[in-house]
Amino acid sequence: MSFQDLGLIEPLVRAVAEQGYTVPTPIQLQAIPVVLAGHDLLAAAQTGTGKTAGFTLPMLQRLSGGEPARNAKGKIIPRALILTPTRELAAQVHENLAAYGRHLKLHSMAMYGGVGMQPQINALARGMDIVVATPGRLLDHQSQRNIDLSAVQMLVLDEADRMLDMGFVHDMRRIVALLPKQRQNLLFSATFSEEIKRLAGDFLVNPQQVAV
Ligand code: AMP
Repeated sequence: MSFQDLGLIEPLVRAVAEQGYTVPTPIQLQAIPVVLAGHDLLAAAQTGTGKTAGFTLPMLQRLSGGEPARNAKGKIIPRALILTPTRELAAQVHENLAAYGRHLKLHSMAMYGGVGMQPQINALARGMDIVVATPGRLLDHQSQRNIDLSAVQMLVLDEADRMLDMGFVHDMRRIVALLPKQRQNLLFSATFSEEIKRLAGDFLVNPQQVAV
């Protein structure tokens, strides 16, 4: 089974070939068709399995098939939000989005704490389709009205178990409460504690489950 067989469009198939990927990994084989079909997804996958491409490739495809979302001033606002536990993971997910999306016209950024707000405000002002963020910094921008979350139609909770371990549960719930109700939700976690199951039960609608 190739990336093309999974239903990915040519600009994405070309980008993964340029990355040197020849065949999809097991998580990609399972997750990509589910996400392309618009379902919610509950995925058990560790780092190193190729999980990032498992959600970024179908996300890029779904967004590229639609029109950009704009605010009243005509500025492009995010249609997808990816939450990660750490700045390193946010940066890495954003690098993957940039690499896989290089033949598409979508804009993405990473947003995390420990660095100045202003460059992130400037990036948002240029117009972003996809924002990869750590929860605390996203809420900082939200409280300053730097980011408009009213058009978010895809949400990814990446390494959700680590976000819980790091004490982000309230931040995650606050963020989800700010999003439109009608959206696609993806949750990736290495482990499935009762707390993760509760989170999944609260955030996901009829999820397809995959595990590697
Ligand atoms: P991840 O689990 O998303 O952190 O990915 C782990 C590593 O596998 C990253 O360095 C990816 O670039 C790489 N990778 C992802 N998908 C594939 C693939 N289908 N073939 C080869 N390498 C891949």
